Amino acid sequence: MADIGRLKTAAVRAEEPDAAAVASAIRPAPEPPLVFVESLEVRFGGFRALRGVDFTLRRGELRFLIGPNGAGKTTLLDVLCGKTRPSAGRVRFKGAIDLAKLQEHEIAALGIGRKFQSPSIFAELTVWENIEIALKQPRGVRHALSARLSAEQRDRIARILERVGLADKPRVRGGTLSHGEKQWLEIGMLLAQDPELLLLDEPVAGMTDAETERTAELLRDIATDHTVLVVEHDMAFVRACAQTVTVMHEGAVLCEGSVADVQNDERVAEVYLGRRADPHA
Ligand code: ADP
Ligand code: MG
Repeated sequence: MADIGRLKTAAVRAEEPDAAAVASAIRPAPEPPLVFVESLEVRFGGFRALRGVDFTLRRGELRFLIGPNGAGKTTLLDVLCGKTRPSAGRVRFKGAIDLAKLQEHEIAALGIGRKFQSPSIFAELTVWENIEIALKQPRGVRHALSARLSAEQRDRIARILERVGLADKPRVRGGTLSHGEKQWLEIGMLLAQDPELLLLDEPVAGMTDAETERTAELLRDIATDHTVLVVEHDMAFVRACAQTVTVMHEGAVLCEGSVADVQNDERVAEVYLGRRADPHA
């Protein structure tokens, strides 16, 4: 009897599919990177602003893009939001979407929100109205402040103002805000459009130290439910956010790593100010 029992057990085992085969069959395919850039070139006339950029950004990252003036950082953001067309190379969103073939408003509609260096808010409208306009416009298309807000939309505006630190200024006119507050308001306007990926170009330029600190907190918070790519000069700010840093130089990626990695990289020290200096300045 015992022998038959063992035989039965063996027979059952033999029919059991291999555990590894099961795991690989049910495991989802690895998610493609949110942004995949390969051999990207941008020419302005005879000048190559980007000369073979390879760059990958995964969903959920808070990535900093640094490098000396003229390195091509803004140009890379311009390609990602459709403002500038690549001359060569590949730019993919979520694996299959070819950003080089799309118009700016189509890219915005896909969930890529871009903030330019100088704040572009509506100075005559209140803080609340600025967010309201951004919330109501289908990404990229302007609509009037006409339709009434639903309770849900009002809640969303309130939550966004809370998030960007302007909850106590809903009725203040945009034009009268401090420079830092204008930048936060514009980040709030981007959030209102519910992007998956935020592209921010030097968001702390011209901010006070206190505003810069508050912005570091804000970006870390936003990165908990968005992917964020930030062009930045201010190394103290980059350190405060302590994330992966991509260093660009002369139209290409020089190196990539943690803040400590790039600060200890000889090549980075050399390209900053063209001499051996750390990029703390
Ligand atoms: P960064 O943001 O890293 O300072 P940019 O991407 O703005 O650098 O610029 C990279 C290079 O491309 C610079 O030399 C700049 O002068 C040049 N450039 C940028 N935009 C244009 C343009 N529209 N026409 C001609 N040259 C440009
Ligand atoms: Mg720039």
